[in-house]
Amino acid sequence: MAYIKVDNKKVTKEIAEQLIKICPFNAFDYQDGILSINENCRICKLCVRKGPEGVCIFVEEDKRKEIVKKDYRGILVYVEHHNNIAHPVSFELIGKALELARQTKEPVYAVVVGHKVKHLALKALEYGADKAFLYDDEAFKNFDTQIYTNVLEDLFQTEKYNILLVGATPLGRSFAPRVAARLKTGMTADCTRLEITDDGDLLQIRPAFGGNIMAKIKTENHRPQMATVRYKMFKKPALVKSQGKLIIKETDKIDKHSFIELVERIDQPQAKDICDSEILICVGRGFKLEKDLELIEPLRKHLNADVACTRPLIENGWFDPRLQVGLSGRTVKPKLLINIGISGAVHFIEGIKGAETIISINKDPNSKLFDVSHYSLVGDLYEILPALNKMLEEVN
Ligand SMILES: Cc1cc2nc3c(=O)[nH]c(=O)nc-3n(C[C@H](O)[C@H](O)[C@H](O)COP(=O)(O)OP(=O)(O)OC[C@H]3O[C@@H](n4cnc5c(N)ncnc54)[C@H](O)[C@@H]3O)c2cc1C
Repeated sequence: MAYIKVDNKKVTKEIAEQLIKICPFNAFDYQDGILSINENCRICKLCVRKGPEGVCIFVEEDKRKEIVKKDYRGILVYVEHHNNIAHPVSFELIGKALELARQTKEPVYAVVVGHKVKHLALKALEYGADKAFLYDDEAFKNFDTQIYTNVLEDLFQTEKYNILLVGATPLGRSFAPRVAARLKTGMTADCTRLEITDDGDLLQIRPAFGGNIMAKIKTENHRPQMATVRYKMFKKPALVKSQGKLIIKETDKIDKHSFIELVERIDQPQAKDICDSEILICVGRGFKLEKDLELIEPLRKHLNADVACTRPLIENGWFDPRLQVGLSGRTVKPKLLINIGISGAVHFIEGIKGAETIISINKDPNSKLFDVSHYSLVGDLYEILPALNKMLEEVN
């Protein structure tokens, strides 16, 4: 780590004023004869180069000691649950962990925290985990990010694990960064792919810069390597005859104090998640008016499909945000996806890559969406849909 240090013995009022003028980031504070550097400092070193000699000093701390990578073993998956029902992303992550572990030749572990959640640990074993660590305690009944972080810290105190994977769900997104900070390691949020490098490091891949590039991130000199991963990026593994071991962990010594007070818990009615849809009709800005969406109704009923949309229709207020497909929405993997009036921006395509069969309707023959579609219909949706509806009427 590097920083700028001020030698206040050399600072006079004039020097302070000179340095304040030099700094383009407004990073100096001068109070009661003391010149200090605030959080605006970008370590640009202008003050060192252009200021009076020896007043501002650039300090570079010794590089962190290289870790011994082979000392860290095991890919750990955090099993998320709500009301003691596992979130399926956890099992998808076990599947991915097993795949990565074949390359790195290390075991796969699951960690379950909660109350009366032994069945989840056993399920993780059925999905192929070598060990499932169970922290079962009444104090862990409701998810509390502070207490749960203490639990994971406890687990890492006894063993040196190599990788920790958490679902990029709302809960995982709040929990994993706190764990990473506690374990003093790095973390990549919202990964869409994971690979192993030739050096055996975890390559954490995620869209960046608005989806225009795929960032490949490594945590070379820190362990565990941590990533949150989106739901539906990987397949759940097949259930196997469990050969793994259930390890029941001691919970007495874990700090169960939290600054968060649970006042009331209001469970939302479980709306259908489009990530789980088998047949999905996705609509875009090709629809000029909200009432025009009625045009998809006969097809939707005929196929018993769910409906989703692109981001502009969410911004129009036409749909619930949970129905948005794409980079900043949901990743979907239906058997059949029908896109209507959608251009195929990278942000959208990122969310549909796993669909088995894609049919797209667009009046623009150069629509980018056609590049990833199995069947493309070039034409006006205001002509195609009424014609289709007429055919459906005849069929039904
Ligand atoms: C950081 C970031 C994240 C984003 N995340 C997402 C995301 O998760 N999901 C998402 O969807 N977008 C996302 N976007 C927005 C994205 O870039 C596009 O703007 C958006 O996907 C476009 O939606 P669209 O295809 O419905 O609209 P448009 O791009 O306007 O396309 C409409 C299409 O309809 C066709 N059309 C028009 N009239 C007809 C007709 N009568 N018949 C047939 N076809 C017709 C047009 O030819 C056109 O191709 C994101 C953007 C940013 C910057």
